[in-house]
Amino acid sequence: LFFLTEPVYRLVEAATEYQEGAAAIARIKEVDRLATEPAPLPAGPVRQQAAQEAPRPASVRFEGVSFRYGPGLPDIHRKVDFEVPGGGLTAFVGPSGAGKSTLFALVERFHEATGGRVLVDGKDVTEWPLHELRSVIGYVEQDAPVLAGTLRENLVFAAPCAGEHEIREVIERTRLDTLVERLPQGLDTLVGHRGSKLSGGERQRIAIARALLRRPRLLLLDEATSQLDAVNELSLRDVIAETARETTVLVVAHRLSTVTDADRIVVMDAGEVRAIGTHEELVGKDELYAQLAATQLLIPAVRHRG
Ligand code: ADP
Ligand code: MG
Repeated sequence: LFFLTEPVYRLVEAATEYQEGAAAIARIKEVDRLATEPAPLPAGPVRQQAAQEAPRPASVRFEGVSFRYGPGLPDIHRKVDFEVPGGGLTAFVGPSGAGKSTLFALVERFHEATGGRVLVDGKDVTEWPLHELRSVIGYVEQDAPVLAGTLRENLVFAAPCAGEHEIREVIERTRLDTLVERLPQGLDTLVGHRGSKLSGGERQRIAIARALLRRPRLLLLDEATSQLDAVNELSLRDVIAETARETTVLVVAHRLSTVTDADRIVVMDAGEVRAIGTHEELVGKDELYAQLAATQLLIPAVRHRG
């Protein structure tokens, strides 16, 4: 299965695992990216205990990674080096086409590095059993769509054994409780394109909640570029920051609000890492970053660190 290209892989996955409605589901990358479900936990008290225990955050390391999509095609990455310890928030910023989204595809091993190594938890991704690698990774795509169906269905289809307690907990963590209260049938209200109207921020928080219910040790978040209203932007920022206390979060960031709170920011340009540091460090030492920040700071960003 691994040797199939990413789009074909996704189709095969969708067709095998979700025969009913495969066509509808195949459009959704985050579903396609689910290789296998995490092993179901035993029922009963053991499961309850396990649910309270957060999974250990995974580390990620790129060692001199080069990549191109095929022979004769241009280099997408050139000697990319960075290290992310388990836990915390790491943001990737840089111009469109810099290779940020492709980094995530390398971590998930939808493509293999043409040079260097990508390590998850100190182990080369090519040495991980593929289903195991993908089961520890949660992925939330840019402008995440919501499926037709109830809100509950939208949350649990990737984690069918999630219990009511876990669902409630994740709803609180992703600040979806006010949405649930607002909807006429709560969790069982039809949402999606023919159901209740949801804001961009709500959609992305639903996608994060869906990923969190699979209890990932590493969460990859390709932040939506669409404009969010101020309330949603603040609440999304807080959700991401809180999530990063429990799991490793890598985010392709378009919004300054996400970046200023990050433990480290990797500035990418044309397939290379220009600089790594915190917001304060980078403003002082990297011209491209300072420029990005200056442009975005025209939009007043509210900051409060915990
Ligand atoms: P970013 O997320 O930073 O905008 P991407 O990782 O999406 O950048 O893309 C980096 C480069 O790789 C772009 O020039 C893009 O056109 C190219 N690219 C992306 N996906 C593919 C693909 N499947 N085949 C060939 N080139 C691709
Ligand atoms: Mg991208």
